[in-house]
Amino acid sequence: MILDAARSPLRLADWPIPRPGPDQVLIRVRACGVCRTDLHVADGELLDPKLPLVLGHEIVGTVVETGARVEHFGFGDRVGVPWLGWTCGACRYCAAGQENLCERALFTGYQIDGGYAEYTVADHRYVFPIPARYGDAAAAPLLCAGLIGYRSLVMAGDCRRLGLYGFGAAAHIVAQVARYQGREVYAFTRAGDEAGQRFAVELGATWAGGSEEMPPAELDAAILFAPVGSLVPQALRCVATGGTVVCAGIHMSDVPSFPYRLLWGERTIRSVANLTRRDGDEFLALAPKVPLRTEIQIFGLADANQALIQLRTGRVRGAVVLVMDRH
Ligand SMILES: [Zn+2]
Ligand SMILES: [Zn+2]
Repeated sequence: MILDAARSPLRLADWPIPRPGPDQVLIRVRACGVCRTDLHVADGELLDPKLPLVLGHEIVGTVVETGARVEHFGFGDRVGVPWLGWTCGACRYCAAGQENLCERALFTGYQIDGGYAEYTVADHRYVFPIPARYGDAAAAPLLCAGLIGYRSLVMAGDCRRLGLYGFGAAAHIVAQVARYQGREVYAFTRAGDEAGQRFAVELGATWAGGSEEMPPAELDAAILFAPVGSLVPQALRCVATGGTVVCAGIHMSDVPSFPYRLLWGERTIRSVANLTRRDGDEFLALAPKVPLRTEIQIFGLADANQALIQLRTGRVRGAVVLVMDRH
């Protein structure tokens, strides 16, 4: 499924199967998650896409061919490909172990063709083995919603009461990790989304309500998964002295001005950018221990446009996933 230009529907097309370079594996894609970031790319809100482009950065598949320098993967291995597709290894961020901030990084499904396809190639150094307990489609949301959600949770610090704004793919995974770690989860959905609030409570949330509501207790930290800038001051209102508000998305509408007293008291606002391979290793080792369960809504590859519309309209329980062998 090809994105030819921003704000145009994806187009079903036959492209040649890509050839793996020396550091790449060729992957037969089995499933690919549909992430909010895909909408930001398709909508032209992220300004530097390869075009035409294959979207998709939550890829699960099997290795069918390996480049000359690939050592740790072989034919038939089941692997996952995340958003971070390549880093330079030489800039000051790479040198400091902050490869998520690499100045020359390339991202899957943005500057590298991704997983809305039957085949894709990926650099073997940015590919993860997938834990055996997960089916292909169930594993797909772990690769971005789970992984960047996990990084956001780490950035939220050692909080007891955690607020999650936007209870979609990422939050439904992060809520489970937070509960496993003994934290209380307070879930905020769009006003009136009772199904979303019930879902959050099923996953162990102490409380669930609309994003404009005040929770019944002061939060120690909040993570914003909804790309809505006005939630930044709203979340600050709910966070205790010394607390942190983490903006987890890659794009957000403008943050409105707000009184300084909302930030006063050593409250922190921060963003989370991308992931490191270490995040991936840690998170994929943790997932089966929790054990994390992903709730997925499945579409066939050719229905990718419908899948994006479903995600945009917001009535999704958990994550949207494309599977390649469904017609
Ligand atoms: Zn770099
Ligand atoms: Zn993503």
